[in-house]
Amino acid sequence: MKVVTTIKEMQAEMLVQKKQGKSIGFVPTMGFLHEGHLTLINRARQENDIVVLSIFVNPLQFGPKEDFSTYPRDFERDRALAESEDVDFLFFPSVAEMYPHPSSVKVVVQDRTDVLCGKSRPGHFDGVATVITKLFNIVMPTRAYFGIKDAQQVAVIEGLVTDFNFPVQLIAVDIVRENDGLAKSSRNVNLFPDERQQATILYKSLLAAKDAITQGERNSFTLIHLIKEMITSESDGEIDYVEIFSYPELITMEELNGRIIIALAVKFTKVRLIDNLIIDIEE
Ligand code: AMP
Repeated sequence: MKVVTTIKEMQAEMLVQKKQGKSIGFVPTMGFLHEGHLTLINRARQENDIVVLSIFVNPLQFGPKEDFSTYPRDFERDRALAESEDVDFLFFPSVAEMYPHPSSVKVVVQDRTDVLCGKSRPGHFDGVATVITKLFNIVMPTRAYFGIKDAQQVAVIEGLVTDFNFPVQLIAVDIVRENDGLAKSSRNVNLFPDERQQATILYKSLLAAKDAITQGERNSFTLIHLIKEMITSESDGEIDYVEIFSYPELITMEELNGRIIIALAVKFTKVRLIDNLIIDIEE
């Protein structure tokens, strides 16, 4: 595995691979790798000649009061994990390498961001779209792998790829969970022990809503109420949002049908956790 820290070298390496006709599978991350990331890497390994992993905690996608400085980082651990997963290139640029001067251009996302995380984290998806644009131009991947854990991010990047004509195929991968159901996240280490216990209610509440749907409930307000009740009675977390939309359009619906997403975000002392469930409702 080769660790590359400059954009120039990364582009040169990728051009060599492309000239040889190799397909490039790309997994962009912010590091502090866990099984969710490793699942994306495995999938990329299976479907491509070359696997590129990037680790970059992107300051542009963090708000001023968010956890950029406390976001967990451990490069040596990540490097060892990437090596054992057979990654070919690990791209690990510094912030100065990615943003050497104030940008003269940024990517602004206009659609699918007035809800969910886009609403509570203004500017977040502009930061995501900007860094992904840069990374796609640096890595020039054949396929790029993203987790449905960040379902809105997948929807936004689909829009980016379509609108800006990136010649890349997006692959969305299911959520990987801990044994007790908590969605794996680098941020989970910043939960206090009691909060870590309480956080299991997030997925339990999504499953309870799914059960209610199976039993015939179709009203989104009733389901949102059920989830909120469960979270507030079983945890000290502060609910940021619980919402239900059509997926991937992210349009509000009162009476549910077709493919829907139930998504939530809950703030604990040092971390804000997100989770979601995508359900197909057949009438
Ligand atoms: P992050 O390092 O948190 O920015 O995540 C990098 C990629 O891994 C994103 O595409 C995430 O959606 C994906 N990812 C994060 N957590 C999980 C998980 N528990 N299961 C599947 N994919 C995940």
